[in-house]
Amino acid sequence: MKKLKLPAWIFIGMILGILAGLALMGKGDITTAYIKPFGDIYINLLKFLVVPVVLTSIVSGVVSLGDIKRVGSIGWKTIVYYLGTTAIAIVIGLVFANVANAMGLFPVLETADVTYEANSSNVMDVIKGIFPSNMWQSFSDANMLQVIVVALFLGAGILVAGDAGKKFSEVMESAYAVVMKIMGFIIKLTPIGVFCLMTDVVAVNGPKIVGSLMIVIGVAYVAYIVHFVVCYGVSAAALSKVGFVKFVKGIWPAMVVAFTTTSSAATLPVTIDCSNQMGSDPEVSSFVLPLGATINMDGTAIYMGVTSIFIATCYGINLTLSQMAMIVLTATLASIGTAGVSGAGMIMLAMVLESVGLPVAGIGLIAGVDKLFDMGRTTLNIVGDSTCALYMSRLDSKRAARLAAKK
Ligand code: ASP
Repeated sequence: MKKLKLPAWIFIGMILGILAGLALMGKGDITTAYIKPFGDIYINLLKFLVVPVVLTSIVSGVVSLGDIKRVGSIGWKTIVYYLGTTAIAIVIGLVFANVANAMGLFPVLETADVTYEANSSNVMDVIKGIFPSNMWQSFSDANMLQVIVVALFLGAGILVAGDAGKKFSEVMESAYAVVMKIMGFIIKLTPIGVFCLMTDVVAVNGPKIVGSLMIVIGVAYVAYIVHFVVCYGVSAAALSKVGFVKFVKGIWPAMVVAFTTTSSAATLPVTIDCSNQMGSDPEVSSFVLPLGATINMDGTAIYMGVTSIFIATCYGINLTLSQMAMIVLTATLASIGTAGVSGAGMIMLAMVLESVGLPVAGIGLIAGVDKLFDMGRTTLNIVGDSTCALYMSRLDSKRAARLAAKK
């Protein structure tokens, strides 16, 4: 018998959890007392990992930007493009999720075992709160915006310190590798975590949650497709002068690889090849695409927006506009911190949920079908990178032409 892969096990965990939950319906007190705690352990492990993942991945990312000086103007334009498209993506995700919610498509569950504290701070407080006065406290409070600021400073410090910073940079890179391994261990526990959480959710809430999961996946895919057509279609045609049909045909092989591997990093060689075939400058794409595979995740951002609204509704929480603005900010940052590997976005979702005070345990509701979200979001992630490579190549060749004309 062919060995089953993890996503298959996660799916099996979910199905078994649903069946066990149906069998135990009406015995919610038993499942909550004896089965759910194991799911909670899984959630705790996810949470404990968020700070080290964000810290080490962002420090390593900034250090790798050491080339930014060499690449000159491309560097900041790439980053502006990536951040801009990601912010658009998450707004699209939030709009579709809110429409679905207003249509009553998302359920309110009875499992709301959380004490929810509204996050009512104003914008200036939020901005002030981004800057830590005590780095260790940022870590221990898992204040993700502060952790990101610390990571950016550490990365910049390493770059500026030059040789003196090398050792520290190596330590951070090695820590990043170790943390990614730990993440691999914890992701392996997902089938068990999902089984335990699902059993309890279905035992307490009945089968209506299953239909709701199909709906929230549908909402995410509608948002993925809209972003693909509107944002990338416009970018390819208007900014890069590549017709939409030609673009889709050109990037198609990479889309298929992304859809099946659910990893931007694993898809990278194919993304580079497809982009170059379509006319990207290989020198530009070898800078823009690896950076994009690490920090540019529009699909992941949409997923975070949609699932945040879904989870909030499940727990009977209505998010305010300022909380949604907070989601735009943190999901943009979280998608930057998401590693380009399978399932990483789900771990970073914890950060988004925490930033607006939503229960991280809500991840347990969607974890069983995360693979289905991941296939679409990874595909969108790499398509976004490719549009950027085309656009930056065009800008770069224009710049080269301008410089040549001056001579
Ligand atoms: N799997 C995604 C990627 O590699 C990341 C995520 O889980 O959102 O692009």
